[in-house]
Amino acid sequence: MGEIESLLRDDLRGRTPYGAPQLDVPVRLNTNENPHAPSAALVADLADRVVEAARLLNRYPDREAVALRTGLATYLSTTTGVELGAREVWAANGSNEVIQQLLQAFGGPGRTAVGFDPTYSMHRLISEATGTRWLGLERLAGFRLEPEQAALVVREHRPDVVFLCSPNNPTGTALDLDVVEAVHDQAPGLVVVDEAYAEFATRPSAVTLLDGRPRLVVTRTMSKAFALAGARVGYLAADPDVVDALHLVRLPYHLSATTQAAALAALAHTDELLATVQTVKEQRDRLVDGLRAMGLEVVDSDANFVLFGEFGDQRSTWQGLLDRGVLVRDVGLPGWLRVTAGTEDEVTAFLDAMRDGLGEVP
Ligand SMILES: *Cc1c(COP(=O)(O)O)cnc(C)c1O
Repeated sequence: MGEIESLLRDDLRGRTPYGAPQLDVPVRLNTNENPHAPSAALVADLADRVVEAARLLNRYPDREAVALRTGLATYLSTTTGVELGAREVWAANGSNEVIQQLLQAFGGPGRTAVGFDPTYSMHRLISEATGTRWLGLERLAGFRLEPEQAALVVREHRPDVVFLCSPNNPTGTALDLDVVEAVHDQAPGLVVVDEAYAEFATRPSAVTLLDGRPRLVVTRTMSKAFALAGARVGYLAADPDVVDALHLVRLPYHLSATTQAAALAALAHTDELLATVQTVKEQRDRLVDGLRAMGLEVVDSDANFVLFGEFGDQRSTWQGLLDRGVLVRDVGLPGWLRVTAGTEDEVTAFLDAMRDGLGEVP
């Protein structure tokens, strides 16, 4: 054991960090980003706002990010019909930081978080990094969750934090709200619904369940539909008491002035950014149809990616695609791969590569 390794926290020793490969290949369909770059108008607006913010960079930013939280609350209210204000919304550097703050406040040593596998790997990784015990629960066939079954296992384990992910990464499956309600009814602690892909879904948001459920938290991100992954902005909607609790663990001034400016610029261009959602969904449907036409299994998706298989050895298909210049994601689920809906040309390149001998079911 190396010297540094011997000094490391016991529970972190030997662990592998999050590591989606960032490879320089022509077609990158592995991290579920929006393939459409910001418009020239948005880039110009964002630059203006960042210049404004830069004039005051000698000062700390608004620690409460009130303008941004108000804008995000307005966006959520407009899209879900639920009246929300800045007190019910919290923002941080990506929804991963939001999740980290939730676990710092409500998880930690001696506490347990659960999620339903396969699901977003960061729920487990952030749980463990904050000293929270992680328990992966099982899904039904077809990666489904039913209200009674999900509520039953949650009641059995009595976790401090439950993660639901809808639409779920990597399966693309969305939850009916009765699953969220049933789990919440049986959970003794916080229930976090990760809605990173909500804008691509057809089902209603769990935001509509917040009223009267102070233990329910809905997380969102600007990294996917909003096409702002590089700016690192995520947020949540919850009871103001949850937001107050997060103040105990957040670092002072955690959201930089330039980040807040960039996010506000994006919000000012909401309509234009969300117009790409329809285009992306069309490409997702092309992926589904194209892969099914090859005889492959494709899980119905409410997100901007699809899970497809089943391969005897998904690793060799992954490598075969990479050899043809197409990067997809091996999420570590035996037999399956995940591909992001890119531009029309990217999806064509992917489907051509698959037809080039890779789409045959072994
Ligand atoms: C991509 C993704 C996020 C986004 O994380 P950010 O830190 O906001 O970029 C959150 N949850 C899930 C399930 C995701 O797939």
